[in-house]
Amino acid sequence: MSAVMITRKVRKWEKLPGKNTFCCDGRVMMARQKGVFYLTLFLIVGTCSLFFAFECPYLAVHLSPAIPVFAAVLFLFVMAMLLRTSFSDPGVLPRALPEEATFIEMEIEAANGNVPAGQRPPPRIRNVQINNQIVKLKYCYTCKIFRPPRASHCSICDNCVDRFDHHCPWVGNCVGKRNYRYFYLFTLSLSLLTIYIFTFDIVHVVMRSVDNGFLNTLKETPGTVLEVLVCFFTLWSVVGLTGFHTYLISLNQTTNEDIKGSWSGKNRIQNPYSHKNIIKNCCEVLCGPTYPSVLDRRGLMQEDSPVSTTCTAPPSSSSIAAPQTTHAVLCLQKTTAPLIPNEHTPDDAKPSIAASAEKSPSPKEELPPTPKLPPLASPETDAETSIAKDKTH
Ligand SMILES: [Zn+2]
Ligand SMILES: [Zn+2]
Repeated sequence: MSAVMITRKVRKWEKLPGKNTFCCDGRVMMARQKGVFYLTLFLIVGTCSLFFAFECPYLAVHLSPAIPVFAAVLFLFVMAMLLRTSFSDPGVLPRALPEEATFIEMEIEAANGNVPAGQRPPPRIRNVQINNQIVKLKYCYTCKIFRPPRASHCSICDNCVDRFDHHCPWVGNCVGKRNYRYFYLFTLSLSLLTIYIFTFDIVHVVMRSVDNGFLNTLKETPGTVLEVLVCFFTLWSVVGLTGFHTYLISLNQTTNEDIKGSWSGKNRIQNPYSHKNIIKNCCEVLCGPTYPSVLDRRGLMQEDSPVSTTCTAPPSSSSIAAPQTTHAVLCLQKTTAPLIPNEHTPDDAKPSIAASAEKSPSPKEELPPTPKLPPLASPETDAETSIAKDKTH
């Protein structure tokens, strides 16, 4: 028995290092923890179902048939925005290739010089100038990159996310550069839907109570009480959240920057991304260009995986052609060049690499020969270090 390497094509999402889950062959991307997202779905779908079952038939006859129609349109819009936020790439930044990580480490060490033993090395920071303001780019010890401005590492998804706003368990995803406007439209439309259902619940109870009495009405439509309770408690949180994000959008600021006080407090640095104009800020955040995903998660890459096999006599001529070819190729690979285990998923790392892979999908270019590298810290150790550092931020 001996181990040989076989090469197979896999989608890049299968080898992405973050803590995400993928469905539909990589088209759908979410965080691993989805329990609260299912609760969100249950509350929205459940409340609307009760409204359509108990209130809409009465209101359509006694008030206007437009009431259930508008509720249905609003409900569909809310669901579309929720799923668009939850199932999309929020703007995850690819990790550095092993070669790039080694190069960056060497650059940092060269810039810092020899740090005496026992002393802490200086923080890994680079300064860039944006609109006459100095902005610090921090080094991510997990992704091994200097994060772009406004990016941050989500410890739940274990990814750096561009224009990171926050991780939202209610939508089961990070909220960042690529899905922020959909998240905002979700909260805004959910606020409207909640107010709409709550208002017409009250109208329905009042109209029926005139004829049947208040207690008889509640007995006839038991779902109404539940709806009113859910809508009442949702109103405070969702409307408050929408108001908070409206305030952030008007300043062109993220939740992460607001919590950290990046542009206020002791720093006294003015927000370099703000246009100093509420309309311009709103237009940029809500109507600005959409950005493509830089992960290329449905692209193909080649993976070498070891397979235990008995490498004895070559197969007889009566064997089918495909196994013969595979065996010959495997034995040839075994005797010519040593194969290096592909531990670092090299093809999914850099936007430039992903972009070039899209342009030229040649398998040879997708899997460049990986040179042997000096030993680096283990990924587990890096992740722990990063999470510990992120918690201190
Ligand atoms: Zn990171
Ligand atoms: Zn996240």
